[in-house]
Amino acid sequence: MIKKILIANRGEIACRVIKTAKAMGITTVAVYSDVDANALHVKHADEAICIGPAPSKDSYLRGTYILQQAKALNVDAIHPGYGFLSENAQFAKDCAQEGIIFIGPTIEAIEAMGSKSAAKQIMEEAGVPLVPGYHGDDQDPAIIKRSANEMGYPVLLKATAGGGGKGMRQVWSEAEFDDALAAAKREAMSSFSDDKMLVEKYLTEPRHVEIQVFCDNHKNGVYLFERDCSIQRRHQKVIEEAPAPNMSEELRAKMGEAALKAAFAINYSGAGTVEFLLDTDGSFYFMEMNTRLQVEHPVTEMITGEDLVEWQIRVANNELLPKKQSDLKIHGHSFEARVYAEDPNNDFLPSTGTLHLLKTPKTNSNVRVDTGVLQGDEVSIYYDPMIAKLIVWDEDREKALSRLETCLGEYAIGGVTTNIDYLRRIAGSTPFKEAKLTTDFIERHNDSISTQTSVEVDKYLPALLLGQLLLEHNSISADSEGVLQTSPWQKHDSYRSNLSHKSALELTVNDKNYTAFTTINADRSWMISIDEREYLASGTLADDILTCTIDGIKARYPIMLNSNHISLFTPQGILCAEVVQPDLGETGEDDHANSVTAPMNGTVVALLVKAGEKVKKGQQLIIVEAMKMEHSIKAPYDGIVAECYFSTGDLVSGGVALIDITADESE
Ligand code: ADP
Repeated sequence: MIKKILIANRGEIACRVIKTAKAMGITTVAVYSDVDANALHVKHADEAICIGPAPSKDSYLRGTYILQQAKALNVDAIHPGYGFLSENAQFAKDCAQEGIIFIGPTIEAIEAMGSKSAAKQIMEEAGVPLVPGYHGDDQDPAIIKRSANEMGYPVLLKATAGGGGKGMRQVWSEAEFDDALAAAKREAMSSFSDDKMLVEKYLTEPRHVEIQVFCDNHKNGVYLFERDCSIQRRHQKVIEEAPAPNMSEELRAKMGEAALKAAFAINYSGAGTVEFLLDTDGSFYFMEMNTRLQVEHPVTEMITGEDLVEWQIRVANNELLPKKQSDLKIHGHSFEARVYAEDPNNDFLPSTGTLHLLKTPKTNSNVRVDTGVLQGDEVSIYYDPMIAKLIVWDEDREKALSRLETCLGEYAIGGVTTNIDYLRRIAGSTPFKEAKLTTDFIERHNDSISTQTSVEVDKYLPALLLGQLLLEHNSISADSEGVLQTSPWQKHDSYRSNLSHKSALELTVNDKNYTAFTTINADRSWMISIDEREYLASGTLADDILTCTIDGIKARYPIMLNSNHISLFTPQGILCAEVVQPDLGETGEDDHANSVTAPMNGTVVALLVKAGEKVKKGQQLIIVEAMKMEHSIKAPYDGIVAECYFSTGDLVSGGVALIDITADESE
């Protein structure tokens, strides 16, 4: 009987597992790295132990050490979550040796599916349909290339040890092949310490449809239907849904049975996901099997009413599956949107920093937010920058989608840049509403999705100004975490009791300057005049929410102040204003006016140019790896490389000059 579980993970999934374990009366142990000492998963667990410094390899990936701690704490079972040690066969083996239950499939199943090429071999033998390609052991680049040439382009290179879209490259012609293979191998080596590759025919309009399977240790297996995960960016899932739209009962049953066939082929037990590519003609091909709980498992929970973590724990306890196939039914429709700290307007670079403001939509039986962070927490450079998963449910797809849009509109996050508006644009787009789902959806509709919705400044500036005035004049609440106290403009208090006092305030919004004149009335309402228009404004500030009445119209907006920046979270997006500071007259020449800079902290993995070399606008100069992803930095204009400040292997900080380029004015 499992009485105590250690969760060898962090963030939202650790919190998720703890929740179910507690509900089942099981004691929980959290593990954490130094930077996670105050993290939510640590707060939620009954016990917690530090397992090392921030980098994953020194903490969350230290299988042997984690196991030692689990032994010392008399833990019965370890739940690995997803990522980290979840698909590490050696770790599962070590657990078994120490007599601790690994909540996952057998070691043989993990090993069999751990390599995409070995998995394809097994599935081929079991009669599960595969995408044509080469998945052999001979890694001679010439052989891989020959196979690609024979199949015809486009092809897809995949790291056999891959996951999360890493080590994967589309190749559209023979000319691109060598560079693509080298880049995919580099990424695979740094992410998985294994650069073995396979190549597949690249299907141009497939959907990603995956089947949730579950097996127990008594040869029973069921499928909990499908999830459509076609909305992907660089092969990483962005929005997932269940059930898959326009899926016939016959196809559902056919894919479910094929998935079970795959599971039985490797004596599976526990939660597993069999991923398929579904082609336009209804044929489907095995891609891979993930031998763990998936990030997107909540959409399956919402439509089946089952708790998959509970199922995992029961199976690990050697119990029978809680339900038979005929007991399982689909109810309604569910979506999951992954909320990330990243900048959609800057090549989706991860954004790090403090979550100064974090307002989630109200959760209830239709709305679920799975997260591992609270307001005030840091999004660090060390881990995946996912902030939360927003999961919604409703009776049908249309209602569920409308709920998703509403909830995304209610989400307010300040302090880091997020993809929330981007998710809203996808959810609100016509092709998404019409369920025209293909894995290239984002590329195909990129123009409309990436067009930033602009906030009507005139409409919201009075409310923003009111927020600032209230902050200046109210006694500032102590829970504003010192952010406001450090603000220099906050000290310009112009309030005079019983005296109308006019003051001017200068702001910059989207590079445009505004001067507002404000007068406080005896009833503590304000006259705000901007661009010769007058507004009567009153309101209160509490808990980072501005409740206001502007010219008789009431509204509520989350609001955030950080140094001299003020952000109002409007239904159209975030309106940011900078309060203009007195000119301190310091500027001076920028030493690196002609430099390309590092987009964030990372490691140089390839320097592709040298001093004296001529470069063309758009040419790759240097590749920096950060958060396990390669970021290619390109020449902003034609020129000559004047100096390279770093070489391969160097660590670089975000914002530093990497390479100086002198503009080529010869033409
Ligand atoms: P990972 O394990 O890195 O997530 P997968 O093999 O699961 O990689 O593939 C991720 C995504 O890449 C799929 O969801 C699909 O969109 C795309 N993909 C994979 N294989 C193919 C293919 N042969 N043709 C077209 N798209 C593919």
